Amino acid sequence: MPENAPDLHSLAAYQAVVVGAGPVGCILAERLASELNWKVLLLDKRSHIGGNCYDKLHESGVLIHRYGPHYFRTNNPALLDYLSRFTDWIEGNYFVKSAARNELFPFPINLNTLRQFFRMPDLDAESANALLQERREPIEDPQNSEEFVLSRVGQEMYETFYLNYTLKQWGIHPRDLAPSVCGRIPIRFNEDERYVDHQFQKTPAEGFTAMFRKMINHPNITLALETDYRSLKELLTPDQLLIYTGPIDEYFDYSNGRLPWRSLKFEFKAVPEAYVQPCVQINYPNEHDYTRTVEIKHVTGQQHPHTVISYEYPTAEGDPYYPIPMPENAALYETYAQLAAEESARKPVYFCGRLAEYRYFNMDEVMERALATFQTLQQRFGH
Ligand SMILES: Cc1cc2nc3c(=O)[nH]c(=O)nc-3n(C[C@H](O)[C@H](O)[C@H](O)COP(=O)(O)OP(=O)(O)OC[C@H]3O[C@@H](n4cnc5c(N)ncnc54)[C@H](O)[C@@H]3O)c2cc1C
Repeated sequence: MPENAPDLHSLAAYQAVVVGAGPVGCILAERLASELNWKVLLLDKRSHIGGNCYDKLHESGVLIHRYGPHYFRTNNPALLDYLSRFTDWIEGNYFVKSAARNELFPFPINLNTLRQFFRMPDLDAESANALLQERREPIEDPQNSEEFVLSRVGQEMYETFYLNYTLKQWGIHPRDLAPSVCGRIPIRFNEDERYVDHQFQKTPAEGFTAMFRKMINHPNITLALETDYRSLKELLTPDQLLIYTGPIDEYFDYSNGRLPWRSLKFEFKAVPEAYVQPCVQINYPNEHDYTRTVEIKHVTGQQHPHTVISYEYPTAEGDPYYPIPMPENAALYETYAQLAAEESARKPVYFCGRLAEYRYFNMDEVMERALATFQTLQQRFGH
């Protein structure tokens, strides 16, 4: 990766320009540079690579996840193999508790949560299921997140763990959110307390930024940070490949209106103790303005006498983090997807990733999309 600032007035030297140095941009830059031997200009308007997976040392020396905790997980061994070229791994230590009634409950809901919640320490899977069966609301085909949760765990658990958390997180009542928003969270009748179910749950041993740095460390790739695509788009030539991972509405100058996003404000506090929480994440469904506190040291495994806790405050303004899953927003996105299809028919431009597709993807999903996009490119341009 050449270290000198690129000459942005000789963009013609690059066969491909990749907008955004997040997971999608880094993977596509690496694939184009290594497999097609193309010269690639990779740019990001931020001052760092890694997109929202960026991690860095806090002033206390503790490694933090700057844009919220990132728990890597996948069921795809081929993806893990690909990433393993750029990193070693440590096992994922993803455990979450939910603070309610002055207690900490394992979350997502599992047999231990049910035992603690109903004060029935001897509950087994069958009796737990029967207990919930009495409480579930008979909703055959849930139309929103509220109905979904009521049909799974009933009113009391809905109000304790989901209602206010969802309201804080989205600023929208669960009855106005798609069933999939709360439906993403599993409910288990066993003692598995892990946050997610995936086969592989691993964290890059030196962190995400180090992994992406190694990925794009290639003589064919030139990195330009603090460089907004909008400042140089007029300089691109029509035959140059453009990979665009920025916001799709921005690409089209918001011609159909702005796509709404939910944002977060992060507050990081250093504490002169090795650990202060029992696990990486504590959710606060009913108290405080923040939704969760995160002590990422549980995941990074860093040995350090201090720790850092991050507090997450959901907001309407700020960086785009979560597309808001409502039908009118999906419809607006479709109008942009149509424009994108027309644009791609006219010139070699590909739209890929969370911002470009207005969809919440986990890292593994978005990485798979980047690798699939590369296969399409290889068929079109590879010889
Ligand atoms: C709070 C939070 C927690 C998350 N936790 C997890 C988790 O635990 N596990 C998991 O698997 N996933 C998690 N994710 C999802 C993960 O962050 C995304 O899947 C991933 O970052 C998407 O990669 P991307 O390349 O599409 O986009 P991004 O990572 O957003 O990267 C896009 C890049 O494009 C740049 N850009 C935008 N516009 C321009 C422009 N005009 N010019 C130049 N550059 C531009 C941006 O600065 C950004 O760096 C989380 C996301 C958030 C917000």
